[in-house]
Amino acid sequence: KLYNQVQDLKGNIRVYCRVRPFLPGQLNYFSTVDHIEEGTITISTPARNGKGYKSFTFNKVFGPSATQEEVFSDTQQLIRSVLDGFNVCIFAYGQTGSGKTYTMTGPKDLNEHTQGVNYRALSDLFLLAQQRKDTFRYDVSVQMIEIYNEQVRDLLVTDGLNKRYPFNYYYPNSYLYQMQAWLHVSSTADVIDLMIVGQRNRAVGATALNDRSSRSHSCLTVHVQGRDLTTGSILRGCMHLVDLAGSERVDKSEVTGDRLKEAQHINKSLSALGDVISSLAQKNSHVPYRNSKLTQLLQDSLGGQAKTLMFVHISPEPDAVGETISTLKFAERVA
Ligand code: ADP
Ligand code: MG
Repeated sequence: KLYNQVQDLKGNIRVYCRVRPFLPGQLNYFSTVDHIEEGTITISTPARNGKGYKSFTFNKVFGPSATQEEVFSDTQQLIRSVLDGFNVCIFAYGQTGSGKTYTMTGPKDLNEHTQGVNYRALSDLFLLAQQRKDTFRYDVSVQMIEIYNEQVRDLLVTDGLNKRYPFNYYYPNSYLYQMQAWLHVSSTADVIDLMIVGQRNRAVGATALNDRSSRSHSCLTVHVQGRDLTTGSILRGCMHLVDLAGSERVDKSEVTGDRLKEAQHINKSLSALGDVISSLAQKNSHVPYRNSKLTQLLQDSLGGQAKTLMFVHISPEPDAVGETISTLKFAERVA
């Protein structure tokens, strides 16, 4: 009974852990994951870190052999609720190289089996909208932004696209919706085109710094507006799919200048996100949205009736055990 109460309180926030497999060609390491049982993952810490075991419990743990399809199937019901007018945020958290982009987008060689949550969510959304076409008329538009050093950049606004897709502005009072362009889409193929453009624009910004993608947050937002064909009433829902900046802590004695500034911004925004989610989970009356651009932008979709899913990713290598433990501690705080 107590368990149910706890579930009720936290019902809108779920945390899933995913373990990346060893990569082809990697040396034959021992995994730091000792075992996974239901929602509990047990990490064995190597001798030099004081040999022992630490367990963490989440709503679900996906082991290294979990497929993209399995991971998505647990996310599917959230996608459905967007069409019912709920706001949803899905985050990928973890150190660089732990599989965040793999979960959200997929690997470089993308096919129908390897496609990540973004693609599957969108095709599900269009499929469901189509199934409801006799009762609802849905309009879907997307936006893709990047947050780097607390600055927001629109990843989709380019000349060619403005001609192809008319702008749609929704929620005129909200900061996020004022700042960025919404591009109307009518099929999964449209969204795939846009995601490719967004990823390309993201890479263009990365010329000066190598691999900027690991040091910025990227967010694909899908806005859905549905009109009930019998009553004429309108419902709105949106879904934010967020690939967060790498959570690894950099050694302050080793970086200076721009790298240090980046690291401080990432640190600050990830801890602000953790603070927001954990105060929502605890039903605190004050939720500190204003401490970072990310939480400010997502304010309408975090808390209230909104649903949040955090995928926390860990790497299996013993070298990564320090980051693995701190990732799991972060996740435990929000779970
Ligand atoms: P991140 O975005 O967290 O930096 P990536 O998603 O880029 O990490 O993953 C790092 C590497 O591991 C990539 O080559 C990716 O294709 C691979 N990878 C990650 N997760 C998996 C997985 N579940 N199965 C197979 N390969 C994976
Ligand atoms: Mg990535």
